[in-house]
Amino acid sequence: MITSTNPATGAVLAHYDEHTDAEVDCALAAAVAAQRAWAQQPIAARAAVLPAIARVLRERRGAYAHMISTEMGKPLGEARAEIEKCASTCEHYAQHGPAYLADTDVASNAGHSYVAYDPLGVVLAIMPWNYPFWQFIRFAAPVLVAGNGAILKHANNVPQCALALQQALLDGGVPAGLVTTVLVDASRVKALIDDPRIAAVTLTGSTAVGKLVAAQAGNVLKKQVLELGGSDAFIVLADADIGAAAKTAVKARFGNTGQSCISSKRFIVEDAVADAFVAAFAEHTRALVVGDPLDAATNIGPLARASLVAELDSQVQRSIAAGAILVTGGARREGPGCYYLPTILDHVTPAMAVAVEETFGPAAAVLRVKNADAAVALANATEFGLGAAIWSGDVVRARQLARRVEAGAVFINGMVASDARLPFGGIKQSGYGREPGEAGAREFTNTKTIWIG
Ligand code: NAP
Repeated sequence: MITSTNPATGAVLAHYDEHTDAEVDCALAAAVAAQRAWAQQPIAARAAVLPAIARVLRERRGAYAHMISTEMGKPLGEARAEIEKCASTCEHYAQHGPAYLADTDVASNAGHSYVAYDPLGVVLAIMPWNYPFWQFIRFAAPVLVAGNGAILKHANNVPQCALALQQALLDGGVPAGLVTTVLVDASRVKALIDDPRIAAVTLTGSTAVGKLVAAQAGNVLKKQVLELGGSDAFIVLADADIGAAAKTAVKARFGNTGQSCISSKRFIVEDAVADAFVAAFAEHTRALVVGDPLDAATNIGPLARASLVAELDSQVQRSIAAGAILVTGGARREGPGCYYLPTILDHVTPAMAVAVEETFGPAAAVLRVKNADAAVALANATEFGLGAAIWSGDVVRARQLARRVEAGAVFINGMVASDARLPFGGIKQSGYGREPGEAGAREFTNTKTIWIG
């Protein structure tokens, strides 16, 4: 049984029976047949469904945003923005997908040689709940243009979103069976990975599950893209615009109630400006409104599950016990719902829980450093390598520092965010492979050399 529960109230929204093995088998057979036909369509025809999907998403934006907010707790305004981002990403791939995947001439010893990007087949997508529409659409839009099909195994706390996504694609004109949601427990994913009808696997989720999925897919030699956890640094140098940095820090840490892989989690600040930065960061953080995600005034909703509150509180309390200074928050909110107060811990040291572990909720760790070199060293002193931000008035120096940061993206004087036009993904324990951009469009393709004598 798969249950959808509102984390703001604890109310059960819906129950679903898991799909049986026979139903999953039918979905796989249908996906393979649909994908074979889809791959034969000209790329322009495949790209042409994407504007229609964008229209469907926009028409239903209110209903889908309400579904996201009630199913995983995201404030309604952020949920609406998520749907809009999905729609614009579909439009991006409709416009640019064919060029990203166009045959590319390469001079060689042939009379004519070129590289073609052929589809791989049906891709298994294992997705998380934190951006329940966006995580899937950013994968699905390029994958469809490339001529692939997909089986979606979504996180089990967002079954309504999982089924709505399948319907939205169908209503946008994606052929029946090409993209199907299967409602299955995580314990049944290995059988899907093993199934010969699955050509490749993508996972957006935790590093722990990434290692399991990588091992399983590796065992049957299937290509994987892994978008995993992060502990992004937000470096504030002494010459930064402290007011702007502090304001952006609030969005970078507390957006989506802190439940983002690319949330800034470790704020690494030069000693000279640390008091001023922490004061401004705390002032903005105290102004955040914690409440019902459906209320337009709310900035911080509940966390998606009770276990996330327990885990975050444990990380905060262990860090305080180890000597971190609590600036604000530091506790659950009294009353019903999975709420945690927006929290800042100052004077965090590298061995504390909030510096070592990924904090997946509204808790910021401030680490003070002597200079820029120490800031980069500390930013890299993590098993993760997803994103990082550098704030400095000297962009030339910031660009040099950015090349020394071990991460898939570095944003200078801004916050890390995904964008359909730019590649996104990590290194180290944050995974491998890229989504969006040209690099993302080519991940699930066979880069094929054609040589003509
Ligand atoms: P999670 O536990 O790893 O779950 C992600 C997905 O994996 C869900 O669909 C889950 O299904 C499935 N899963 C769980 N155990 C599995 C197993 N043994 N075998 C196969 N699949 C399994 O992640 P989460 O805690 O829900 O999500 C938060 C994590 O995702 C964070 O670490 C965050 O940083 C990361 N994330 C990364 C990115 C990125 O782009 N790099 C983006 C968003 C989130 P069930 O729900 O059924 O367990």
